[in-house]
Amino acid sequence: MLTVPYYNIVIIPGIYLYFQNNYFQKIAQKDAVVGETVIFLMLKEDKTREEMRAEDFYPIGITGKIEAVDKEGNVKIVTGSRVNVDAIDVTETSIELSLTERPDVEDLSPQEAEAHFENAKMAFIQYLQKTQFGLIARNYVQQWDSLGEMTATLSFLLEISNEEKYKILAADTLSERTERMEKAICEYVEIEKVKKEAADAQESSNEQIYREQALKKQIEFLQNQLDEMHPENISDVRRFEQKIEKAGMNETALAEAKKVLNRMKQEGQNSHEYGMLYDYLDFVTSLVWKKEPMRPVDLEHAEKILDEDHFGLKKVKNRIIQQLAVMTLNQKQAGSILLFVGAPGTGKTSIGQSIARALGRSYVRVSLGGIRDEAEIRGHRRTYIGAMPGRIMEGIKRSGASNPVMVLDEVDKLVKDYGGDPSSALLEVLDPEQNNTFTDHYMNVPYDLSDVLFVCTANTTDSIPEPLLNRMEVIQFPGYTASDKFQIAKRHLLPKAKESMGIKSQNLRISDAALRAIISDYTMEAGVRGLKKQLDTLCRVAAVRLVKGEKKSVSVTPKRLREFLDQRPMPHDRKLEEKQPGVVTGLAWTQAGGDILYIEALFTKGSGEMIVTGQLGDVMKESVQIAVSLVKSLYPDKAELFEKNDLHIHVPEGSVPKDGPSAGITMTTAIASLVSGNAVSPEIAMTGEVSLRGYVMPIGGLPEKLMAAQRAGITTVLIPRENQNDLDDVAEEVKDALTIIPVHRVTEVLEKTGVRADS
Ligand code: ADP
Repeated sequence: MLTVPYYNIVIIPGIYLYFQNNYFQKIAQKDAVVGETVIFLMLKEDKTREEMRAEDFYPIGITGKIEAVDKEGNVKIVTGSRVNVDAIDVTETSIELSLTERPDVEDLSPQEAEAHFENAKMAFIQYLQKTQFGLIARNYVQQWDSLGEMTATLSFLLEISNEEKYKILAADTLSERTERMEKAICEYVEIEKVKKEAADAQESSNEQIYREQALKKQIEFLQNQLDEMHPENISDVRRFEQKIEKAGMNETALAEAKKVLNRMKQEGQNSHEYGMLYDYLDFVTSLVWKKEPMRPVDLEHAEKILDEDHFGLKKVKNRIIQQLAVMTLNQKQAGSILLFVGAPGTGKTSIGQSIARALGRSYVRVSLGGIRDEAEIRGHRRTYIGAMPGRIMEGIKRSGASNPVMVLDEVDKLVKDYGGDPSSALLEVLDPEQNNTFTDHYMNVPYDLSDVLFVCTANTTDSIPEPLLNRMEVIQFPGYTASDKFQIAKRHLLPKAKESMGIKSQNLRISDAALRAIISDYTMEAGVRGLKKQLDTLCRVAAVRLVKGEKKSVSVTPKRLREFLDQRPMPHDRKLEEKQPGVVTGLAWTQAGGDILYIEALFTKGSGEMIVTGQLGDVMKESVQIAVSLVKSLYPDKAELFEKNDLHIHVPEGSVPKDGPSAGITMTTAIASLVSGNAVSPEIAMTGEVSLRGYVMPIGGLPEKLMAAQRAGITTVLIPRENQNDLDDVAEEVKDALTIIPVHRVTEVLEKTGVRADS
């Protein structure tokens, strides 16, 4: 007799059990021998042989007899009757039992049992028919002879616990046992049905998704074919869909563009928002989002191009080449931000264009002059009617690249106003820490500006806020001398003017003398903007003559200039013709370059009043006070003059308003000259601030001032001693033409000018 522990199987009397694939051997731990009697004993928990104890078993077992064992190890057993386990002795190798019979109470007729079996079988078959196993399973089910056999076979699938399975065996009456089995099977079927319904629902929703995707692909395919056949009919939405796909936007930008596109689809063409949505998509899809690869910079080639485009400007070009070298070493497309400072027409913007050409990158100019509103830089939010992107992003769009050379013109002309502070917005644009995620309010998504090479221009650094100025490296454009201008005109401006008007070089000849006359008599500037205008005018007039066929070729001499330029020579700020006490020539710096100015002082009968007239700024008015006090202290014996007269100081209006302390020394000398009666030669000019202690203090803009002095025909210039180093920046031609005298004290100035020859 073999004791076989089992777990989680329903075994009841009077059925055939089929153990497949050596499962019987596994739980019995012995080979099955046909004819042997077995006692099945049910475990309360699934335990291994080594762990089993007497108390691990339920107290009711069941007998069986091995009927057949085939070659594959499949075992057929017929079960007998239930037994009570009265005693149990578990050792490592065996389980010894003492048993007594436990008969069933037969309270169910065979017909009734059959009816219950049929009922359970029907429920099971109905369920199976709806599954993929339908047919096979049906044949299998037909082999069962009783509800017990059915339950035993399905043991592992039933959703009831091990204990409930034991209760089926433990039920003493057939009616209770049958009821328990039928309930277990019907429950199983119901649970399986619900599971299947859920799976089917899931499947059908998946199916719908697949179907949708397939349909979409098909629509896209057909749409593409239609678009190819009729490109003119492509709808806005389609066009933008394609553009968005190709644009290579970053994640945020892509999401925003898709959102706007969806909105556009929903709103339709008649909506009042359509235009706004269209403009947005048109803008963002025309930007270049992909990074341009870094191109190697050929410094020699770059140098050649800078020289080709611009005459002179040695220092500036050197600094640019340095910048390009650093960018190459750093493997970056941008470097420190250069700020070109100088008078108009000195080539600041156009050299920016040359940098782009030298680097083979696109160029774009963004004018910032007069901007008051932060939104002009950073864009307007799209909620505003007529909202637009800011000038920076608009510039990027125009450039058609993500790494253009961008010239920000006139950064000194930004105005702080109620519209916010545009310079702080600009700071963000130029900050390499932040500008890789620059967010224009209109776009509302970040754009990477870190590959843009920014170059700024300004006429002066005075009006640039400190934080902005600190971010940039200042490079001065001091302006051109007359001979620089001559070369620029001959090599660049004139050939360009001729070419743009279709005049062949040999058909228009301008003599060198005429060119020099244009420079000296028809223009008065530090740059060459006016000169360019004059040459353009001249070429236009010549073009008319050539077209009319009056002559085959035109030549221009100084005498004939007026015919071509349709203008009189400029009334020039030239040195004075004669000298006069109280009148002294000074040098001023303006945004248009250097200029000369006369300071006139006069005593009129009065009572010590002071009158100041002319175009003076506040700082200059203070200089007048200092000058008067200084002269009074230098000429104590002339005190009476100041008491009995009114002192009138006048600064004749020049073309540009002037301010700054650098006229201090000129005023002091003018008043001293008036007081002493010694006139100063009109060939002498001067510049310098004065202190009350009588020292001459340094000033700015020396190169421009000296150039202006030379233009005006001055021969001697007095400059503050501390400005001597600035002479390095002054063109040789200018230094050669002038006698430059550094001075330290006001008394020195008075001596050198002959005002106080006696001291
Ligand atoms: P800015 O920006 O300083 O006001 P621009 O760059 O607009 O001046 O220059 C005005 C014109 O003068 C341009 O046509 C420019 O090409 C020309 N120009 C200025 N400087 C030079 C130079 N050194 N060589 C050749 N052309 C020059």
